[in-house]
Amino acid sequence: MSRVEIEGMIPQPRSRFLLVSCLSCGNKQVVFDSAKTVVRCAVCREVLAVPRGGKSKVLGKVVAVLT
Ligand SMILES: [Zn+2]
Repeated sequence: MSRVEIEGMIPQPRSRFLLVSCLSCGNKQVVFDSAKTVVRCAVCREVLAVPRGGKSKVLGKVVAVLT
């Protein structure tokens, strides 16, 4: 099942910070929910999140949501 995202129609009241675990080395890193750039692991340079229409698509494992 796929989830359709309609950009620009759903108001996003605030951004969040996510604690993401790197799939390659297990490093945990805080990733901004609405980052405009590719976020890489500080340890092994694995890509943790990529920008996608104003929101980040997280490629690592989200272990916590920081509000
Ligand atoms: Zn890593």
